[in-house]
Amino acid sequence: MLRSFFITLSKSTALRSFAMKNALAQRAARRFVSGLTLDEAFPAIRELNSKGIQVTMDFLGESVTTQPEALAAADEAIRILEFIASRDIRGNVSVKLTQLGLELGQEFCRDNVARIAAKAQALGNFLRIDMEDTPATDRTLEIFHAMLERVGPAHVGIVLQSYLYRTEGDAAEVMKRGGRIRLCKGAYKEPAAVAFPRKTDVNANFVKVMKMMLDSGLYHGIATHDEAMIRATKAYAEEKKIDRRKFEFQMLYGIRRDLQEQLVGDGWNVRVYVPYGDQWYPYYMRRMAERPANVLFILKNLFRK
Ligand SMILES: Cc1cc2nc3c(=O)[nH]c(=O)nc-3n(C[C@H](O)[C@H](O)[C@H](O)COP(=O)(O)OP(=O)(O)OC[C@H]3O[C@@H](n4cnc5c(N)ncnc54)[C@H](O)[C@@H]3O)c2cc1C
Repeated sequence: MLRSFFITLSKSTALRSFAMKNALAQRAARRFVSGLTLDEAFPAIRELNSKGIQVTMDFLGESVTTQPEALAAADEAIRILEFIASRDIRGNVSVKLTQLGLELGQEFCRDNVARIAAKAQALGNFLRIDMEDTPATDRTLEIFHAMLERVGPAHVGIVLQSYLYRTEGDAAEVMKRGGRIRLCKGAYKEPAAVAFPRKTDVNANFVKVMKMMLDSGLYHGIATHDEAMIRATKAYAEEKKIDRRKFEFQMLYGIRRDLQEQLVGDGWNVRVYVPYGDQWYPYYMRRMAERPANVLFILKNLFRK
């Protein structure tokens, strides 16, 4: 119930413009957002790297409605890749296709993504394409597969969501072509026609697809803060004698730092998703949806002197 409520609020443009101008809301968002600019995000990146944690940088924004906005978002992703190269950061870049013009035309978006993928390839780095809600899934996969053909699996990867019935098939298809996957549970509101309504089924599917991924021998990302999913992954890697360095755990900036550091200390690869930018509202509301207890936590901290 609360989850749906927050996801619905995440789409409200009125609330978005109110929150983005409100100083208290901006302060609250800082728990999950590393800064308004790449320079402001830099200390967070450096701190994570110094602990042995890699990053994936995300310039916040989605569902753009004009071509100039989409072109500017692609320019910023390219700037991230250059920033990473010039400062010796251990990190890569993540993008959302609705920020790169997916709603403005498939070809326009594909060309925009191709510019970033080419830059990632030229700099020996990697572009991760995030997955959004199901109206975008087929179009996102089409662009990902086109990029995979162009730059190869060392330079582009995709995200798949274990709450979708289709994910097992999509994962098999991606891996058949050598593609690298970030597996997560899924952050959007989806109907029972396409997604498991029960958490236990989402988790069971996560474990099933995680095993397929680890068996593939390709370098994938297991993105979760759920200790049960992490335990299942570690146990499977140990049972199958899969080297800890052959895949990575991924978590979000500001969530379960203790667990991030513990995993790195135990010799597992960890990457943290570090978002920045002033378009933080929908991302922030999805984080609220995942854990409504965050609202109480935030209210308590906001009003603390
Ligand atoms: C690196 C990364 C990239 C992602 N990329 C995408 C993507 O491209 N597309 C997409 O749909 N989703 C994406 N997600 C979000 C994902 O789908 C889930 O919504 C999110 O990770 C919460 O699921 P969970 O696996 O942590 O498990 P849950 O069962 O939701 O949570 C398990 C535990 O984790 C902690 N936790 C989880 N979320 C929060 C939170 N917001 N605040 C505080 N504690 C929390 C709590 O302790 C909770 O009990 C990504 C997640 C990660 C980690």
